[in-house]
Amino acid sequence: MSQIIKIFDTTLRDGEQCPGASLNHEEKLKIAKQLEKLGVDIIEAGFPIASPDDFRAVHAIAKAAKKTTICGLARAVEKDIQTAFEAIRPARKKRIHTFLATSDLHLKFKLKMTRAEALAKIAEMVKFARLKCNDVEFSPEDASRSDPKFLWKALESAIKAGAKTLNIPDTVGYATPAEFGEFIKNIRKNTRGIRGMVISVHCHDDLGLAVANSLAAVRNGARQIECTVNGIGERAGNTSLEEIVMAIRTRKDVFRNLKTNVKAKEIYRTSRLVSSLTGFVVPPNKAIVGSNAFAHESGIHQHGILAKRETYEIMKAQDIGLDKNKLVLGKHSGRAALIARMIELGFELSQKEIEKTFRRFKLLADKKKEIFDEDLEALVLNEISEAAAEWIVDGVEVISGTKKKPRAEVILKRSDGKKFRKKSGGTGPVDAAYSAVNKIIGEKVKLLEFRMDAVSEGIDAQATVAVKVETADGRTYTGKGSHTDIVVASVRSYVNALNKILAGKERMKVVL
Ligand SMILES: [Zn+2]
Repeated sequence: MSQIIKIFDTTLRDGEQCPGASLNHEEKLKIAKQLEKLGVDIIEAGFPIASPDDFRAVHAIAKAAKKTTICGLARAVEKDIQTAFEAIRPARKKRIHTFLATSDLHLKFKLKMTRAEALAKIAEMVKFARLKCNDVEFSPEDASRSDPKFLWKALESAIKAGAKTLNIPDTVGYATPAEFGEFIKNIRKNTRGIRGMVISVHCHDDLGLAVANSLAAVRNGARQIECTVNGIGERAGNTSLEEIVMAIRTRKDVFRNLKTNVKAKEIYRTSRLVSSLTGFVVPPNKAIVGSNAFAHESGIHQHGILAKRETYEIMKAQDIGLDKNKLVLGKHSGRAALIARMIELGFELSQKEIEKTFRRFKLLADKKKEIFDEDLEALVLNEISEAAAEWIVDGVEVISGTKKKPRAEVILKRSDGKKFRKKSGGTGPVDAAYSAVNKIIGEKVKLLEFRMDAVSEGIDAQATVAVKVETADGRTYTGKGSHTDIVVASVRSYVNALNKILAGKERMKVVL
């Protein structure tokens, strides 16, 4: 009988907290629903104490989940654990994930705690979490740099207090595969009470070894992997979910009798959704989900593949749900065709959203003949990012050219329905429009990056603008917006970034 490697997805917690990725409530819910379709076992939906907005998002996900375990992160502090539990309460299956650092470096300089105090704290807080929730996971933060003997003791006290999953994080991405595998093996051998418990790993990709380390851990008895879609996360990111799943699946000879519950056919869709909502573009050469991952372009390769696919391909594009036959919609496509395509792209829309999207789709189809998948994604993304936004772009008019001094007038609508109109000049139409936005919102930011791409081919294509801005206190946020008019797309992306700043204020962050 094969054993299951549990997939613990932390895209919405570790992935979402990395600079620039921040998602709003609606976006998180959309991703969570797709993760459930993908078949992950546990969704770490967020860090509820971080801000009221984080709490609300976790609560909404817990309410919407049908079969997946919903997990909330909490430091080893009563208030965190209490808040995490309140947030996940509506879920059918729930888990509290609490953590405390065990490396001397962290104990001495961050927590200012002795080893004995740390052991007592772990026991006390895991017990407290167990009073609320049957399923408790404990992580010794910075485990890979902790003294192994002390680490075993820390795990032992978590087990005694009732933790059922012991997660070993390589917080700073320092481990190498053989060493990390040995480390897990020794934990299994030397921790009292570990039999019957689930050992989990959480690796970071600072040395590009997160997936390799996680798989080495699996070979040594780990049965849960914490990972994110597209490998997004702090710094160089986390273990990439799609790479783990496909490695275990493709190399059955190595990972004998092991499998995951993930439906591989949903991988591509999930990757696209996460990439478009976070604004983190997947590099073309990224394993499994990069646009070149299944492109065998050189002549020799093509010949080989035509003769027999296995000569160069170890996986099939269809395995991850990558459908080569793209359907192009147009002016005469009906509601049903649109809905079917949206589902294909991973967007599950409510009746209200469908109506709105369909209206926008028709407007766009009047402007351009062929509507590609990328157009549909852009359409829906504008919709989702505006759904919970404080400010929405209601109107943009510009004058520019070689003779006239650029000027812009912008109308923004606030969430209470009130409209604000301002005019401004600038060095160009975008500068003028941004300065008008600044006059209305009054948030001081520096524009770090501005990038414009055509959503699809053709001169009538929509433009997507991605901006990165920095606040006065050094936090960075990204924004995205699209439209067939490049100035409108520019203003949308800028307002999108400013909305994230307004929503992301006073948010606490943890590194695990
Ligand atoms: Zn992490």
